[in-house]
Formats: sequence, structure tokens, C-alpha cells
Amino acid sequence: MHVSMYRKNIHYHPGAYRMRTFLDDAEVTRHCFEADEESGFVLVYKVDHLDKICCNRDRSPMAEKLKGTVRLICSECGQHVSNPKSGCSSASHGHE
Ligand SMILES: [Zn+2]
Repeated sequence: MHVSMYRKNIHYHPGAYRMRTFLDDAEVTRHCFEADEESGFVLVYKVDHLDKICCNRDRSPMAEKLKGTVRLICSECGQHVSNPKSGCSSASHGHE
């Protein structure tokens, strides 16, 4: 599954905001804005040692592509999300 938090991106899905993203079992949710489980990479904002997002000279945020084992987890129930359109299999909370 490939999800993006960018509204203009073709992979954008509103449910992406309710997912947690893990790369090689380390959580990257906070700075991750795109993830692809099949291809095994995430796109994250680059941060400095103070956890501030690094910017380019034109003040656009710096991003980097990290490769590894990607897992997308529902932030509400902790289940693996295999399809962002149907969400996790839990019936207690809706995933659009
Ligand atoms: Zn869930």
C-alpha cells in the first residue's frame, strides 16, 4: 500500500492521518508524509538534532527517502492496515 498525506498527491488518502508508520520497527509517524509498503520506503522530513525540520535556502522543508521494512498501523486499534480505503478490520471505529 502506498499512502500520502499530501492532498495533491495521487496516493493521498484522508485515513493516512489516522495511521502510524514504522520503518524497521522504529516509528517515523511524526515526520513521515509518504509511505509505501510494497516498495519498502518512506519519505520523511529531515530534522536536526533539536528535532526541528531542516529547510532549504528557499525555506522549503528538506525531505529524505528511507528504505526498509514499512508497516502501517491503525493509530486507534494498533492493527495492521492493509488497505487504506477499508482501513483495519475493526468494526468499533470507522475508517473511511
Ligand atoms: Zn483501527
